[in-house]
Amino acid sequence: KNGVVIVGAGHAGVQAAASLREDGYDGPVILISDEDELPYHKPPLSKTFIKDQEAKPQPLRGEAFYTGSAIDYRPGVCIDRIDAGGRRLELSDGATLPFDRLILATGSRPRIPSLPGSDFSGVVSLRSLADARLIRELSAQSEDVVILGGGFIGLEIAATLTAAGRKVTVVEAVDRLLGRAVAPIIASHVRQRLEATGVRILSGITIARLEGGNGHVSAAITASGERLPAQMVIIGIGVVPNVELAQAAGITVANGIRVDQQMRTSVPEILAIGDAASYRHWLTGGDVRLESVQNATDQARLAARTILGHADAFTAVPWFWSDIGDIKLQMVGLISGGDSHVVLGDVNENRFSIYHYAGNRLLGIESVNRPGDHMLGRKMLGAGFSPTPQTVATGPDGLKAALA
Ligand code: FAD
Repeated sequence: KNGVVIVGAGHAGVQAAASLREDGYDGPVILISDEDELPYHKPPLSKTFIKDQEAKPQPLRGEAFYTGSAIDYRPGVCIDRIDAGGRRLELSDGATLPFDRLILATGSRPRIPSLPGSDFSGVVSLRSLADARLIRELSAQSEDVVILGGGFIGLEIAATLTAAGRKVTVVEAVDRLLGRAVAPIIASHVRQRLEATGVRILSGITIARLEGGNGHVSAAITASGERLPAQMVIIGIGVVPNVELAQAAGITVANGIRVDQQMRTSVPEILAIGDAASYRHWLTGGDVRLESVQNATDQARLAARTILGHADAFTAVPWFWSDIGDIKLQMVGLISGGDSHVVLGDVNENRFSIYHYAGNRLLGIESVNRPGDHMLGRKMLGAGFSPTPQTVATGPDGLKAALA
């Protein structure tokens, strides 16, 4: 038995290994990572790790988990090629590795624009622990930081580095923050609160080039010629899925490695999960590629079940969180296509939830510092229960009563 090989030891890959064992898989499980670390939590990197010189990474599982569960974890190895027909992998160290089943959990990587000056030192992006260590080091030597991109990562970093005493400017190409990921009320709320802490936010503005001296970045220059001093420039304009391995092996790729409801790619022995995988979403009927810990770990659990011969379809309710300074944002469901909403709580008090509807159907909830609404929303959507807007307006107690 060659067993299951998992490529990538991020949130998806590690959960897949754990779930295989929890569900009783007794063949070999080999977990390969091109990083040289014990697998770690990514969300704290942008929220806390980079502002505290003493902070330690948070491992996803302790070292004993891997040995104790007979998971053959191999750090510092890159998979260079998949021989799909021969069911073998070629490793960067020259070895080949046969598999019965393969799980691609290769994640995504920051999108890097072609920007004159982007090869200066001090121009960075944040995906890995190594990136976070570099940002922390550069931060200690920087007074001014420019962040390209007003998405979750960019804004989390902006809040974190501002709290660490840096002067931060965020430059966003379109005229609002957080793209279409959140409702406009949330986007403007986040903007107001960040600005109140001293973050400068330029929206509807692009950076034309970066300037530097002695090989190190010194400023970002906007398209209209404004010079923004910066000893560090952080690029946070989104990610691209790591699909090249799959693509080269002839596996179908469409904005991610295409998978069915059991996480199988176009080659049934090869599965894909997490940031790298795209699929038709059961909630909306649309094609998605979601970038969240929940999506990665729920898909991992399902992939393990598929390998063990179950035929469950993926029906996990999507949820996500982001901490931007004192805004704890939590989202459940998929809100695109909504046509009306109900607000609970008080925007001015930085505590409110927005319930999004398409007609009379609850699509999803965005909560700011109201974790109870979020948890109840996960229960409601998980149970397929759609309260009317009138019931929502009665508040959490009315909702709990209606759900019971
Ligand atoms: P990853 O965690 O990226 O793991 C993929 C791994 O595969 C990487 O280690 C990669 O190096 C490795 N790999 C790729 N190709 C190869 C190869 N050929 N050979 C060997 N190894 C390979 N999500 C939330 O829900 N909430 C948050 O608050 C949140 N905050 C975040 C903050 C930061 C700074 C970042 C970067 C992400 C955050 N996310 C958050 C997103 C979340 O971390 C991702 O959705 C999640 O990590 C996806 O898991 P994954 O296993 O698919 O990919």
